[in-house]
Amino acid sequence: MAITLKSGREIEKLRRAGAVVAKALSKLQEVVRPGISTGELDDLATQIATEAGAATLFKGVTSPYARQPFPGAICSSVNEQVVHGIPSKGVKLNNGDILSVDFGVKLDGYCGDSAFTVGVGEITAEKQRLIDVTRSMLDTAIDICKPGLKWSEVAGQMEQVAKSAGFAVVTDFVGHGIGTEMHEDPKLPNFVSRELLRNDILLKEGMVLAVEPMVNMGGKAVKVLKDGWTVVTRDGKSSAHWEHTIAIINSGCNVLTA
Ligand code: MG
Ligand code: MG
Repeated sequence: MAITLKSGREIEKLRRAGAVVAKALSKLQEVVRPGISTGELDDLATQIATEAGAATLFKGVTSPYARQPFPGAICSSVNEQVVHGIPSKGVKLNNGDILSVDFGVKLDGYCGDSAFTVGVGEITAEKQRLIDVTRSMLDTAIDICKPGLKWSEVAGQMEQVAKSAGFAVVTDFVGHGIGTEMHEDPKLPNFVSRELLRNDILLKEGMVLAVEPMVNMGGKAVKVLKDGWTVVTRDGKSSAHWEHTIAIINSGCNVLTA
């Protein structure tokens, strides 16, 4: 496993890419409402990236499970969809839905990757709690990440946030290093496993990481739909996803997609 450490100059470039992602996601959060389609959100994110001179990262990505490359600039995952939902003008959001949007760009050779989950109109208290607990897992990681800490300690605290809320951490998908490529080493599970404890990751200044907890209201089991992309919960219950790109710095960590 080759984890590259980024220089201060590279981290500034990653921050500029991250700022484009942050701008797009903040605009999308503003316009989410019942009746808008995920295709319209996709157009808006693409427009913001293009205006900033950035390339979107997800469109055209291939998968061994899918016949078609990913067709959207954003991943838009509604309710029981966990990640990798395909945006479409035919998918209109309804009052009471929850929507996860994941977006990434490359600017001047460097990548940014971030995601949020938000309620559409009025949602149930339990759906709001799911969104808040998942966000709080990400905040926990941001609070404690610093040089010298092992990732298993971060993952353990993140997992505890979900478990004590009675929710299940998705184990089939994990966070990742990020830099000139969207997916770099290391893999960053949001839970502790024997494999992680055997191959733990010691956080070092200059590591840049996309931390992205995915949490299910019911069981942790997920499956991929026939389109080869959309990941859904097996029990049909809702799922939430939050992500930030962070840089490990001497005093802790810096969020590059804020
Ligand atoms: Mg992402
Ligand atoms: Mg990511």
